[in-house]
Amino acid sequence: MADPRGFLKYDRELPCHRPVPIRVHDWREVYEPFPADTARRQAARCMDCGIPFCHEGCPLGNLITEWNDLVYRDQWFEASERLHATNNFPDFTGRLCPAPCEASCVLGINAAPVTIKQIEYEIVERAWAEGWLGPIRPSQHSGRRVAVVGSGPVGLAAAQQLARAGHSVVVFERAPRPGGLLRYGIPEFKRVIDRRLGQLTAEGVELRCGITVGNSGADTPPSVPGGHETVDVATLRSSFDAVLLATGATVPRDVQVPGRALHGVHQAMEYLTGANQATEGSLGRPPIDAAGKVVVIIGGGDTGADCLGTAHRQGARSVHQLEILPEPPTSRSEEDPWPTWPRILRTYPAHEEGGERLFSVSTAELVGDAAGTSERYEPIRCAPGPRLPGAAHSSRLPGRPSSCAPIWCCWHSGSAAPNARASSPTSAWRLPTEVPSPWTLGGRRMSKGSSRPGTW
Ligand SMILES: Cc1cc2nc3c(=O)[nH]c(=O)nc-3n(C[C@H](O)[C@H](O)[C@H](O)COP(=O)(O)OP(=O)(O)OC[C@H]3O[C@@H](n4cnc5c(N)ncnc54)[C@H](O)[C@@H]3O)c2cc1C
Ligand code: SF4
Repeated sequence: MADPRGFLKYDRELPCHRPVPIRVHDWREVYEPFPADTARRQAARCMDCGIPFCHEGCPLGNLITEWNDLVYRDQWFEASERLHATNNFPDFTGRLCPAPCEASCVLGINAAPVTIKQIEYEIVERAWAEGWLGPIRPSQHSGRRVAVVGSGPVGLAAAQQLARAGHSVVVFERAPRPGGLLRYGIPEFKRVIDRRLGQLTAEGVELRCGITVGNSGADTPPSVPGGHETVDVATLRSSFDAVLLATGATVPRDVQVPGRALHGVHQAMEYLTGANQATEGSLGRPPIDAAGKVVVIIGGGDTGADCLGTAHRQGARSVHQLEILPEPPTSRSEEDPWPTWPRILRTYPAHEEGGERLFSVSTAELVGDAAGTSERYEPIRCAPGPRLPGAAHSSRLPGRPSSCAPIWCCWHSGSAAPNARASSPTSAWRLPTEVPSPWTLGGRRMSKGSSRPGTW
């Protein structure tokens, strides 16, 4: 156990955010550095519970209490080993995960939970800074070849595990660059990808981008940057011992209301993809630019918040974010008891940067001018509790912001489905050799030095 009285001595602390007037002019991370001593104090708050509910809350089964203890003891290398035993990419989860572990932290029953996600972030950043995350190569090769289709976090994690188990791995990706939604959906100010890609390629994973597997690309959503080669499934199957499909769910959900087809009404992923290509330099300027525009985001979730932060950085005139559900409470209600994931108001850094959030609002219609450009929208105030667009609405909102033109609507209601044809050829492909689970890998890597470059 870290400090037996840590949770009594220290309050929860998180890193400061960089000032809004500065950060909305760049695409760098929002957070200020978190001193190592503060991270250790936060780790000291962990009670090392006999039944660590946080381990259950984490979808990866991260060994949270173990690395909290190691951080408290200033054993950062060992903490990194334990963290990587269950998680290939804590640099992604430490930034992006909604942290269900913290929702199920026992301390959260009557106090602020341990800052698990921040400690995860600190461990992995320390590991990169110290040079502990070099390539891990297998001690012997299986002689088998595996194709992974899709280079999102799932495909990349699978590719890394397979390569470390001694297989020869090729990742096929239809977009020009690897990363999936991590690269083309999530804005630059929330992510760091390329150093992991460097680790993967140094481990022998081959990344082949701009290649669509299994179809002509005809059902590729418009948000995926184009210019594709294709490879048919028969060729892939004859060239590889196994094929692993990790194609994600990139077909967006739409909400059909009158005016949906007007100019200026876009899916969130069309908007974010172009914005991300512009910030990484593969496009000169974003194809959909919010600069000087009145922006309405339909959807009050995380993707909406990413659109909000992006629109402010592009210089939007104003931004409204509409949420169909009523405003949730700021803390757990009796309907959401610990350790469940609570439905509470989540305020992200993007919300601090401006804009207005409206709850219990549905959209009845988007109204355009004679040229077919969207000019205003007709919002509907929903009765409390509706879950479906248009359900149980009671009254129209008075003229908001009806006189502002041009309105540029960023539309997102989540992903609806995987890319159907790409994910169809699943018949009976099996890996020819057993692949160690992350747990096995973790066990082998626990002795200090065993994860140094070249020792696998
Ligand atoms: C805007 C946005 C913000 C998000 N923010 C967060 C967040 O903050 N935290 C969080 O935890 N999650 C977030 N998510 C969700 C997260 O990005 C996804 O859960 C995650 O990326 C899914 O990983 P994946 O590898 O399954 O799929 P994807 O990341 O979608 O990757 C699948 C890849 O497969 C490729 N592909 C598909 N079909 C083919 C084919 N036939 N041939 C070749 N390649 C193909 C696609 O081009 C894509 O690159 C966000 C999602 C979006 C859209
Ligand atoms: S932040 Fe996410 S990945 Fe990290 S321990 Fe918590 S639930 Fe697991």
